[in-house]
Amino acid sequence: MSTFSAPKGTYDLLPPESADFLAVREAISAPLRRAGYGYVETPGFEHVELFARGVGESTDIVTKEMYTLTTKGGDELALRPEGTASVLRAALQANLHRGALPVKLWYSGSYYRYERPQAGRYRHFSQVGAEALGAEDPALDAELVILAADAYRALGLRQVRLLLNSLGDAECRPVYRAALQDFLRALDLDEDTRARIEINPLRVLDDKRESVRAQLTDAPLMRDHLCEGCKSYHEQVRELLLAAGVEFEDDPRLVRGLDYYTRTTFEFVHDGLGSQSAVGGGGRYDGLAEMIGGPALPSVGWALGVDRTVLALRAEGVELPRADATEVFAVPVGEDARRTLFHTVTELRRQGVAADFAYGGKGLKNAMKSANRSGAALALVLGERDLAERVAQLKDLATGEQVAVPLENLTTEVLAKLNRPTAR
Ligand code: AMP
Repeated sequence: MSTFSAPKGTYDLLPPESADFLAVREAISAPLRRAGYGYVETPGFEHVELFARGVGESTDIVTKEMYTLTTKGGDELALRPEGTASVLRAALQANLHRGALPVKLWYSGSYYRYERPQAGRYRHFSQVGAEALGAEDPALDAELVILAADAYRALGLRQVRLLLNSLGDAECRPVYRAALQDFLRALDLDEDTRARIEINPLRVLDDKRESVRAQLTDAPLMRDHLCEGCKSYHEQVRELLLAAGVEFEDDPRLVRGLDYYTRTTFEFVHDGLGSQSAVGGGGRYDGLAEMIGGPALPSVGWALGVDRTVLALRAEGVELPRADATEVFAVPVGEDARRTLFHTVTELRRQGVAADFAYGGKGLKNAMKSANRSGAALALVLGERDLAERVAQLKDLATGEQVAVPLENLTTEVLAKLNRPTAR
């Protein structure tokens, strides 16, 4: 134990569990890479103003949850609380939108929000995200939703539900907003919520308190106010999802915590996670580029939470295969054996075998304990007598069965025992 521990609301990823985080990132990004999304990486911090404008001045993220700092040079920066604003900023800065559209990008990284920590809600968390910039096409919205659904399915998750809604556009949303405000102003609400009605009334629909929810049963719904364009767009997205076999639930009350969404809005939830049930979400954000000083650039994207996806795997009891688990563990006895086996381990690794070695000059008994603990299928044991006879003992750690193999073709024998195709 050191004097220090990880700050509140954060945790360390350590083996063996950390392998699940890598596997989740891989499973989410693989379908994106196959669909033409290119990798983008942006700084961990940006100018505060980017998030204030891009996420929304009135959102919880901007008003309460950002880690902000003033640099020695006087810059006002914030640790990134989400990915979309940064990715869009980077794409605009590099003029990617002047080339072929849509620009399709994916990213993976750490995000920071000063939230009240609880199970599934942390101050430092990890997301994989995707953004498709510069096209207004229901097939693009559908593509992104399908890619996310396929990623969850590839991971073996069965209990992820997809909630779908349309938030309208610049034509129909203002009319709906006004109708909703009229309705909300007549309710019995606290001062903060009343203030929210004037700034972002849609967010009131997302209030989790029972006292508020009970009053919202008859609230007007965006669904009943969609203009013809939005209605037809949404219908096309729904049809494409149905045709792809992606199940969803229409949720006319689904709004999201960020201000910039238009039209298609969705969230993936998992019922085994308690109150922090959202594993991922996203939608269309046609106005965001202009909000951060760029041109009109209709876009759609999502971010999936890696931490909560791992929790969902645990909740469903899904065990992911360990990609790089040790297959062969080498146990030398004596100096000459050490040199020989160290070389064999290097060779095996170069042949693509996951191999490890008993370091630290352990005795045979302790070294065999390490071999068993490593989870390897095979131990390669080399003692002094073996050396004299130019053989090594290849031991199947599950059955205890042991065979002597000639040192000359040790690598080939191990590969054969592992059912590997012939050495490269
Ligand atoms: P959001 O940008 O809020 O829509 O978040 C997208 C996804 O990131 C959510 O569905 C969560 O899986 C994850 N996420 C957001 N905030 C946190 C947090 N504080 N701790 C862990 N995961 C989070």
